[in-house]
Amino acid sequence: MKVAVLGAGVIGITAAWYLRQAGHDVQVLDRREGPGLETSFANGGQISADHAGPWAKPDAPLQALKWMLREDAPLLFRLRADPAQWRWALAFLRNCTPARYRENAAKLVRLGRYSRAQLQALRKETGMQYDQVSRGILVLYTDRRSLQPGMKTPEECIAIEPAVAAMQQQLAGGSYLPDDESGDAYKFTSELAKLCAAKGVKFDFDVHIKGFTVENGKITGVHTATGRPVKADAYVLALGSYSPLLARPLGIDLPIYPLKGYSVTMPVRNPAAAWTVSLSDEAHKLVLSRLGDRLRIAGTAELNGYNTEINKVRCEAIVKRVMELFPEAGDPSKTSYWAGLRPATPSNLPCVGGTKYPNLFLDTGHGTLGWTLACGSGRILADIVSGRRPEIDVDS
Ligand SMILES: Cc1cc2nc3c(=O)[nH]c(=O)nc-3n(C[C@H](O)[C@H](O)[C@H](O)COP(=O)(O)OP(=O)(O)OC[C@H]3O[C@@H](n4cnc5c(N)ncnc54)[C@H](O)[C@@H]3O)c2cc1C
Repeated sequence: MKVAVLGAGVIGITAAWYLRQAGHDVQVLDRREGPGLETSFANGGQISADHAGPWAKPDAPLQALKWMLREDAPLLFRLRADPAQWRWALAFLRNCTPARYRENAAKLVRLGRYSRAQLQALRKETGMQYDQVSRGILVLYTDRRSLQPGMKTPEECIAIEPAVAAMQQQLAGGSYLPDDESGDAYKFTSELAKLCAAKGVKFDFDVHIKGFTVENGKITGVHTATGRPVKADAYVLALGSYSPLLARPLGIDLPIYPLKGYSVTMPVRNPAAAWTVSLSDEAHKLVLSRLGDRLRIAGTAELNGYNTEINKVRCEAIVKRVMELFPEAGDPSKTSYWAGLRPATPSNLPCVGGTKYPNLFLDTGHGTLGWTLACGSGRILADIVSGRRPEIDVDS
């Protein structure tokens, strides 16, 4: 079957890989000049399956209110005259009850673990390299009130990652997820795209997708800005934050809204003082990964429409926090800033599977966890398109 995958982010490329493995004739379309150049470009790098928690949790509304007026707040709602934003925010609130939180968290961890296993199998099969580190994720707490029984002491945290000694004065404790990983999502996406091409996947870059043609309840083509329609037997929508804009004219209302985040990348200055184990700074909602000789620090969430401008105040707040915790690790004079739009659903669960059109499939809405969930979602999607029962279910 000929399958057109719309979008060449980490989600579209992993879907293309598993579809090709399932024997389909695959074509990938993207408006950019290559794969992985939008939200998959400079994310936090964590494969955080065991720590895959939804952002909608019981304490989130109060925390968001407290942060509302702070320009450098980790979570910022910039209220706009945008009904889609209000609808999303209300649905997010409905997902903050303890019961919904527990249910969403359990589904995310299940999909995250499945996805991590698929990623490990893919790595073994292809030998691909993307600055991956398989030394777990260490979640660090600087507020004693956040500690839970059984968590690691500061000394135990330092034994896991010696660079943490630099923040010993502030450290209250930590939790360690030894099976989680980290790596450069952009390198992974571009390497996997090359492997896809070598297996016969066709790529059409610089192609802006404008909409679909529908006949007798089926998708019959994709309109593009080039004027040249693209035809396939099945279509996979993997356009990240832009998926709802293309789905709406088809009468499909996807619960996805862009949740902007920032990252800072700097070269390692002193290798002995720089972390290798991927870290999470729970108080400031930052993730810190080691990507070869670079340090990547990412976080913050801003509900502010399709706006990818870089807000220096928010990026400088990230650098300030890193320098407070790890003053010797990186070189802040060579920092690059980046912003991306997470395709966020209120529950944090992605939309993977069929639609009311028998030949249109979704692989989108991966929000804060797209890198973690990519391989599992791609595998599940390929099973569904091929008419096979996936090994696990996903629902949003
Ligand atoms: C600051 C930050 C930190 C993050 N940290 C992590 C992390 O540590 N771990 C983790 O698991 N996840 C993390 N994420 C989330 C993860 O990066 C995303 O969920 C993931 O990249 C989404 O991938 P995607 O392929 O759906 O979207 P994208 O990468 O945005 O891909 C969508 C593609 O669609 C194309 N496109 C859109 N519209 C059109 C159109 N009309 N025509 C043609 N092409 C179009 C775009 O060009 C793009 O290439 C983070 C995100 C951010 C912003």
